[in-house]
Amino acid sequence: MPLSPSPVTGLHHVTAIAGEPARNADFYARALGQRMVKRTVNFDDPGTWHLYYGDETGAAGTVMTFFPWAHAPKGSVGAGQVSVTQYAVPPGALPFWRQRLPAEGARLVAEAETAFGETRAVFADPDGLLLALVEVEDPREPWTTDAIGPEHAVRGFHGVTLALTEGESTARILAEVFGYAEAGREAMGAGEAIRFRREGGVAPIVDLHVDPAMARGREGVGTVHHVAFSVPADAEQDRVREALIGLGLEVTPRIDRQYFHAIYTRTPGGVLFEVATETPGFATDEPVERLGEALKLPA
Ligand code: ZN
Repeated sequence: MPLSPSPVTGLHHVTAIAGEPARNADFYARALGQRMVKRTVNFDDPGTWHLYYGDETGAAGTVMTFFPWAHAPKGSVGAGQVSVTQYAVPPGALPFWRQRLPAEGARLVAEAETAFGETRAVFADPDGLLLALVEVEDPREPWTTDAIGPEHAVRGFHGVTLALTEGESTARILAEVFGYAEAGREAMGAGEAIRFRREGGVAPIVDLHVDPAMARGREGVGTVHHVAFSVPADAEQDRVREALIGLGLEVTPRIDRQYFHAIYTRTPGGVLFEVATETPGFATDEPVERLGEALKLPA
């Protein structure tokens, strides 16, 4: 039974694996101009950092999080992963970023690229993680810095691209449980890109890059670990959990992540999906104006 209307509101966060933590913080906070909204440890591996970057409050749909391991092996991007994380920037902002980011240790992967009618530039961050900056009208209030004004500042995520050898099983989850609808198809490399859009949501895009011949990705530095979709609170998360189980997926019980509650499922295409609550949010253990300043440890 499709979950209609779906309580999913779009993306919540993307979590990736980084190398050296200081370099990661310098790139995301200073070069890309995101606010460090939380500095904590990996709750499943408390000897390592967990760093969060987003807008002023760390609103759902803006939050990029990292597990930085200075000596971890490099991964490779491929099937079964989020291959590209898409950030929204204002129309006209790309020349600024094309000049700024390569001077900050990022590599411009694709100079001028259009996907689904949108102009974008794809960069590899200093660890090789792929970021697309997409020019798009986005009403969200940006976090700004002395070097990055509102005419250029990142608005949060536009969406993610999932690399898959088959799209059907993932499309079904997006359409039947998460409330996305197919919004176009176009050729991409040797395969095809299928765009899904969540009307009325924030960070509304999920693109499926489907290529049956694609090599499998290998987890490591410079790759995404999982993508989280957003629901308002526990009651909505319960409904999504039941619907995922109804599709035959295995879903974890609810896990308390201090700033949100999470459930996880490994999708048949290989990508790890999380469904996270907007509550209680990042201001639960420090005030909004001090977010990210102190190291926060779980109880
Ligand atoms: Zn997560």
